[in-house]
Amino acid sequence: MHPQVALTLRFQHILYKKMPKLVIFDWKRTLYDPDTKKLIKGAVSLLKLLKAKSIPVVLVGKGKKDMANEVKKLQVGNFLKKIVFVDTEKNVEVYKPFIPLNKKREVFFVGDRVRSELEVGKKLGARTVWLKQGKFANELPQNKFQKPDFTISSLKECLYLFKNFK
Ligand SMILES: [Mg+2]
Repeated sequence: MHPQVALTLRFQHILYKKMPKLVIFDWKRTLYDPDTKKLIKGAVSLLKLLKAKSIPVVLVGKGKKDMANEVKKLQVGNFLKKIVFVDTEKNVEVYKPFIPLNKKREVFFVGDRVRSELEVGKKLGARTVWLKQGKFANELPQNKFQKPDFTISSLKECLYLFKNFK
């Protein structure tokens, strides 16, 4: 891990240490690479850690039955409490059913786009983790809702982040 990144993560931990109640992952370019049709490096280790810590995981992705089939093919279904694929823009309504009203700050959104799932997560009162990697790494926040709580550059760092929660 780059020393600067390690330092940033350590600083982020000081701000927040409580174990998440729920993690909501984006699919494409967060857990899954649509170009190679493989999982993003570190996805399985991260999902295993969350399972070991009994933190429920919900997957909300863009796509149709083809993507649901990819989840099955890549054998990650067992790590997921719920799988939702939408073929419209991601909006508040898609996520609302999963967010407990009194614990919304303990829900974490993990995604690669600050202007998509992470903006919605912030609007719902959740915390957001930006996987700043790949195609949308340079798509920067344009308003306060798009500004993530945590920024990481690999799923390995995401694992490190969740590992340190108590
Ligand atoms: Mg994505």
